[in-house]
Amino acid sequence: MSIASVRNLDGQLKRCSINTATLGHREPLRITVDRIARAGFGAIAPWRSEVEAGDVHALSRQIRDAGLSVSGYCRSTYLPALDPEERRANIEANKRALQDAAVLGARCFVMVVGGIPVGSRDLEGARAQVRDGVAELLAVAQDVGVPLALEPLHPVYAANRSVLNSLGQALQWCEALDPHGTGFLGVAIDAYHCWWDPDLGPQIAAAGQARRILAYHVCDWLHDTRDVLLDRGMMGDGVIDLPGLRGQVEAAGYVGPVEVEIFSKDNWWKKDVDDVLSVCAHRLQTVC
Ligand code: ZN
Repeated sequence: MSIASVRNLDGQLKRCSINTATLGHREPLRITVDRIARAGFGAIAPWRSEVEAGDVHALSRQIRDAGLSVSGYCRSTYLPALDPEERRANIEANKRALQDAAVLGARCFVMVVGGIPVGSRDLEGARAQVRDGVAELLAVAQDVGVPLALEPLHPVYAANRSVLNSLGQALQWCEALDPHGTGFLGVAIDAYHCWWDPDLGPQIAAAGQARRILAYHVCDWLHDTRDVLLDRGMMGDGVIDLPGLRGQVEAAGYVGPVEVEIFSKDNWWKKDVDDVLSVCAHRLQTVC
């Protein structure tokens, strides 16, 4: 990868987004919005629990008035279930969330698809349920004008969070469910989940070729991760070649926001919120 292919993010905070999970969900969204805007970022990725706790129209106005765009809306209700009624309820919950995503003007609705239902050993069955659910949601996504971003999760989460585990797998599903490329089904590439994949480079290129890259999430994988869910690292503190990865994503044609998403129960979630934002801003501009 040539240096010239990577635009430095120095001075480009407006291109950067903060996923509100990074701040530990310690304050209401209306306060978080102001903090993120004041820190100079150009975008935000809120979570449903925060939005649904308030008035989505008022929050949407506040976000826009603060000069922020919405890089993504987090996230889908898990799709697979043993009980058909529960499965139906999961799909319906996602349809309602898509309406809110539209009110927020989100660039995409982030799909974390769900794992294997408790009591089941049917991995392929769970994957089939996800594909069926995504097919149904795709029609709604087109109606409301918000694309679905399938986010493959690291395979360590295959049992309890996502039976979708690599970028290649996500792209296969996109091609199967949306063969003509409507623009309403693509992928979210999260450095934390994808960095280890020996096939990542070619799959990023393929995702770009198919115009399917809807989001790019950054944090870092700490060398001695203590908790795969809640011990994500700040950019620059771990093993991921973040400039190299961004270079590949942008060489594939992605020009959207770079979104920071850090779950860190014992470290960053305990620090002062404005300090965390300031470290994010610094690291984005120096090591990403
Ligand atoms: Zn992510």
